[in-house]
Amino acid sequence: MQSDLTTLDKPPISPRERKLSRFLLFFEDIIKVPLFRCQHCGECILSSTGFVCSQRCPKRLRNGPCGGTGADGSCEVYPERKCVWYRIYLRSKFFCRLSLLYKINKIHNWNLEHTSAWLNVFKKRIDAPMIFVRNDKDIVKDMIVDDTQRKNQL
Ligand code: SF4
Repeated sequence: MQSDLTTLDKPPISPRERKLSRFLLFFEDIIKVPLFRCQHCGECILSSTGFVCSQRCPKRLRNGPCGGTGADGSCEVYPERKCVWYRIYLRSKFFCRLSLLYKINKIHNWNLEHTSAWLNVFKKRIDAPMIFVRNDKDIVKDMIVDDTQRKNQL
């Protein structure tokens, strides 16, 4: 279903709301820029990417990695850097949140760029963050079994 993949069907932001959004973004930046190096996409998926901002990937991938990651975890575009998705994997593993990497993140709605993600959650434009993940290892195990069964059926 389209609504599972995009937020494009959500009502546009009115000029009045944009002003409020800019105001809230100021406070959001105080927390999220130093902690996560937030890139202001307005559609925050930090909670599903091990609290590493996926928008620091030069290709701005929301579902990664791209396939060009080096064997040592280096980025295809900037080989001197580690791939953002490699970091996301390590951090998700550390925090026992690997099962969230199986979730497909929605295609970015560029209209939400430089808007407050907090306001967008409140307005139900984007999903609320997932703070707690229970039984991460069991979920991942089930997903791997499902995946293997699907492949065997092909
Ligand atoms: S290697 Fe990783 S960080 Fe670099 S472009 Fe690909 S997904 Fe993005």
